[in-house]
Amino acid sequence: MKDSTAVFRTEKRRQIFWGSLAVLSFCIMLAAAGMARQAGTGKPVSGILAGSVQEENTEDFEMPGDTEGSGAASGNSVSDEQMPAKPEGDAGGEDIKNEAVQGGEIEDEVPANNAAGENSEPEETPMIAFTFDDGPYTPVTNRIIDVLSEYGAGATFFVVGSRIEQYSDTLKRTYESGFEVASHTWSHDDLNKLSEDKIRVEFERTEEKLNQYVPVGHVLARPPYGNANETVRSVADTALINWSLDSQDWKTRDTQSIIDHVLATVKDGDVILMHDLYECTAEAVEYLVPELMARGYRIVSVSELFASRGRELEKGKIYRSVLE
Ligand code: ZN
Repeated sequence: MKDSTAVFRTEKRRQIFWGSLAVLSFCIMLAAAGMARQAGTGKPVSGILAGSVQEENTEDFEMPGDTEGSGAASGNSVSDEQMPAKPEGDAGGEDIKNEAVQGGEIEDEVPANNAAGENSEPEETPMIAFTFDDGPYTPVTNRIIDVLSEYGAGATFFVVGSRIEQYSDTLKRTYESGFEVASHTWSHDDLNKLSEDKIRVEFERTEEKLNQYVPVGHVLARPPYGNANETVRSVADTALINWSLDSQDWKTRDTQSIIDHVLATVKDGDVILMHDLYECTAEAVEYLVPELMARGYRIVSVSELFASRGRELEKGKIYRSVLE
């Protein structure tokens, strides 16, 4: 019995052993399955990583788009303020944004252009150019500069080259006061009677002398007596500016006659011929400037007059009025 009991005990131990072994095996299998499951989730983790990278990439692509969008959408002061805060945006985005903002600015400028379009009203405002020949002559030129400056009027002074040296201070004052300085040739000869070479010298020498005292560069010219035949026109390296209204100050030498003649005949676009040689001219100008302005005229230089009407001045061509 003792043996049988021992056998029994041994049997039981075996059962326990094998049972434990089975349980252990099961646990090991479970553990293995768990690991396998973890290993399974490992793949999705890498998938998430890949996904996040994708999303980041998407953001990378979308960000400039968003920037562009905000820039394009507003183009207002807010996006302007944001612009310096996003310097790291990629160049393409920045460019696009800048274009968008510029677009906004252009839109902003549309009303300004319209305002400039309303400047076609000032364009329709009667406008005339005052021109003074044969100077400088200090006592008269200064009086004319004074009254023009007082009223903010413009003018072109066609200076005789041979007079520049003697009246260089007045020439400087004319230029520094903002008036257009131009050429009336060197010797005031009738160019139609001169050779090509002499005509060329008349223009070139005057321009050189002018530029010794004032930095005017290349200037407009007025041929003495308004004479410019084919030869003169072919030699001239600048536009030739004649006139549409002769004040006749050189003929009447009378203040009231000058005033009456100008006021009776003046019209929009006129280039008015006067001379800063005569006291009567200065006196007439002192009356005419406020009077013409009161009548609605803007008084400007030749270049301003033509520029305001979009007319280009071509060399070798004669101009009398901006409307001709
Ligand atoms: Zn002259």
